[in-house]
Amino acid sequence: MQCNANYVPLTPISFLERSAIVYGDKLSLVFGNDKYTWSQTHQRCIKLASSISQLGVSHHDVVAVLAHNTPATYELHFGVPMSGAILCTLNTHTDSSMVSLLLKHCDAKILFVDHQLLDIAKGALDILSKSSTKLATLVLILESDAQNSNTYVSPETLIYENLIAEGKLDFEVKKPKDEFDTISISYTSGTTATPKGVIYSHRGAYLNALSTVIINEMISSSVYLWCVPMFHCNGWCVPWSMAAQGGTNICLRNLTAKSIFEDVFKHKVTHMGGAPTILNMIINAPLEFRKPIPWKVQVMTGGAPPPPGVFAKMEELGFYVTHAYGMTETYGPASICTWKPEWSCLPQDVQAKLKARQGVLHVGMEGLDIKDPVTMKSVPADAKTIGEIMFRGNNVMKGYLNDLKGTKNAFKDGWYKTGDLGVKHPDGYIEVKDRSKDIIIFGEDIYISTIELESVIYNHPAVFEVAVVGRPDEYWGETPCAFVKLKEGYNATEEEIMQLCQKSLPHVMAPQTVVFGDLPKTSTGKTQKYVLREKTKAMGSL
Ligand code: ADP
Repeated sequence: MQCNANYVPLTPISFLERSAIVYGDKLSLVFGNDKYTWSQTHQRCIKLASSISQLGVSHHDVVAVLAHNTPATYELHFGVPMSGAILCTLNTHTDSSMVSLLLKHCDAKILFVDHQLLDIAKGALDILSKSSTKLATLVLILESDAQNSNTYVSPETLIYENLIAEGKLDFEVKKPKDEFDTISISYTSGTTATPKGVIYSHRGAYLNALSTVIINEMISSSVYLWCVPMFHCNGWCVPWSMAAQGGTNICLRNLTAKSIFEDVFKHKVTHMGGAPTILNMIINAPLEFRKPIPWKVQVMTGGAPPPPGVFAKMEELGFYVTHAYGMTETYGPASICTWKPEWSCLPQDVQAKLKARQGVLHVGMEGLDIKDPVTMKSVPADAKTIGEIMFRGNNVMKGYLNDLKGTKNAFKDGWYKTGDLGVKHPDGYIEVKDRSKDIIIFGEDIYISTIELESVIYNHPAVFEVAVVGRPDEYWGETPCAFVKLKEGYNATEEEIMQLCQKSLPHVMAPQTVVFGDLPKTSTGKTQKYVLREKTKAMGSL
């Protein structure tokens, strides 16, 4: 029999109540000199929720946040849903015009803004007021040592800490009546198109947060260093994972190799996450702070294909990397390259190839398959036949905000279509070959995986980063063009790069053009291949 005693809608905000009881005196958040315990975090979040309610936000209104990885951003992951509202964390690297577009798109009633990003927010509000759309309230987040700074605050702007101080501790937290109620809107980073507002449910966030706890073996003594931006898929749901186990969050604003190593040692960090660019930054850090760590730091990486060699180099420094694959539409991690102990006996290069695969279902997902997108038939597990990667399960989005057509197109026959192409290995592990927009079609029917080509070019000792895109070709349609950023103080020639590829791949796959220089990046550290494609279009045919 289903009743109120055995069925309570799942929501990650309940993790906080438990941590306040069990780990009340334990550190929840550390940010420079600011420190909070779980009991304080719990109380601050209730008061925040109470103040948000007082501002007239009704159930299911959207509350937007434009802020770096600070304690306030963490608290808003609880305070906003505890008020019954929906959280929308905005990309901190966007400009005023994009922020205004997104605020309008999600009809945000309040915007919480970090003092460092106030100008962007003001610009966005100006744009909105010109189009006679008015955002109800602006709340400014000041840091304790910036409280008395010269930031100009207009009379109608509220101050975050005042909201907390004035909030009521006896506020009745608004838990969802239905676990499919929306907890947050996460905009995609716009690597391939304009950002889409992905809708997350309380249930999905709860399950993804717990799945990550299990996969990363997070416990109450875990110390998590915030390198994943909390605005990206709600920091892969880790704010809620950390509350589930009462671990300690270390927040930092400026991500540099120096700050990462300093914080890892200072706070005895045990866990962190980060896109492959962060791992690349760590392994190539200047020697003065690249010191091996005498304990194990568990790192989850994803968001882009990691170069195969990066795993072993991270391990030499004490960072043990779990490779995850996913997207905004799956609350972040959707598949994990779960390591089998017997693989540890294999030669290093084989291990590197195994680790670079995108793996198997994340705990909590129900189905992962590679299918022909037209017939929806599964491809054979032969490591060769390319199809579209598809997921089904409790960590698939509810849909896109205000976009019925986009939502409809994203699903087919009960599966979420990722738009990524991959192969299935005989052992059931999948490997991403490319985004469908990125794969190079050479001649009529030769598909060149840019990821495969990039992983070969990474073997050149002078290569810091590489991205391959198609260059228009009058005869072949497209030929591979490699954009290469070299390590500081290193040199390489176009011929060397081409020969390296010809040695290990069929000759048609080798790049016919190599361009040296910086790579354009998104705010989440991904290479903007569409920008590179514009460059190859401008180059024209070879
Ligand atoms: P955007 O699509 O705007 O970049 P997302 O963060 O949702 O925003 O990006 C998800 C995409 O990133 C995936 O569809 C895939 O193409 C790529 N990706 C994520 N993780 C991996 C990975 N481990 N290996 C290869 N590609 C990945």
